[in-house]
Parts: sequence; C-alpha cells; structure tokens
Amino acid sequence: MAKKKLATVWLGGCSGCHMSLLDIDERILDVAKLADIVKCPVVDGKEFPDVDIALVEGSVTSDEHMREIKHIRKHSKILIALGDCAVMTNVTGMRNYFNLADVINASYLTAVSNDGEGEMPDNPQLLKLIDKVLPLQEVVRVDFVLPGCPPDADTIFYVLSEFLQDRVPNLAEAKKLKYG
Ligand code: SF4
Repeated sequence: MAKKKLATVWLGGCSGCHMSLLDIDERILDVAKLADIVKCPVVDGKEFPDVDIALVEGSVTSDEHMREIKHIRKHSKILIALGDCAVMTNVTGMRNYFNLADVINASYLTAVSNDGEGEMPDNPQLLKLIDKVLPLQEVVRVDFVLPGCPPDADTIFYVLSEFLQDRVPNLAEAKKLKYG
C-alpha cells in the first residue's frame, strides 16, 4: 500500500486537540509507516499541498480561516473535524452570545487588565474576525467528525489508523479497543 499524505491543521482552537494527538506517543511511528506528515503546526511549510487526509482542529473565526478551510477542502481527499471546536464551535464559539464589536472592545479597550490604556490594533494586514464563529461543516463538506474536548489519544489513533488503511472508522468500535 502506497504511503498516504497526512496534514494536521490548527484553526480557531486552543491546540488541546493537537496535544491529544501527540499523546499517541510512540504510536506516531506506526502512523509514520503509513503516512508522510506533510503539513502540521510544527512542519514549516507555507503551502498546503494535496493530501489524502486532513485533520482539522478548531472552528472558523476569521476571513483568514475561511480562505484556509476552503483551500484545505479543495486539496484534501478526506477532511476530518478534530474535536468539539471544529465540530460545533465549543469554547471558541462562546463569543457568539455577544455582539462582535462588544467582544473586541472588551478584549482590547475595556478589559480591567488594560488599566485604561488599551489600544485597538488597526494594521490592515491583520485578519478580520467574522461576525459569528462557525463549525467546519457550515463552511465546507466534512467527511468525518471526531468529537471530544479534546478527543482522547486512543480514539484519534484508531480513526487515523483506519483511514490510513482505507477503512472507515466506527467510533463505537473505538470505545471497545484498548491501546497502549
Ligand atoms: S475541542 Fe477542546 S481541546 Fe480541542 S481545540 Fe477546542 S477547546 Fe481545545
């Protein structure tokens, strides 16, 4: 079986899902036998290449994320929403209960920690937050959802292993398996 190309991406999330991915520990060597990791937060590649599988953590929060996830969708055969922020916005979506301008003002100007000296960043090159945080499936087609905050390492390893061997994972099965 030819080696697959794997990418992991971090959009609007806390990186906890990637930490959980790293918790597969030495099983990363099993993954490496089946796939080349061609893009991830610690691989310094500027471009997102064509991949077989993209694991995407976090939700869509800005114009930049919007462009990124559409590009990822176009270049990925299988797109997996990794964790609750990607699946349903979760913690990242907590700002959806408020008006965006109020959230930005509270963050940069009126927060107590600013001591009244806050400043609104206005560099035109900065990304622009969208009004409401969106889960991936409201922007692009998602092939598989892997819920959890974060999903546990055993489940991530199971799902990844199945897709890397051309099988469709069954999360009910994952619960019965023991790894490690
Ligand atoms: S699902 Fe939980 S662990 Fe994953 S990015 Fe969101 S807040 Fe962090």
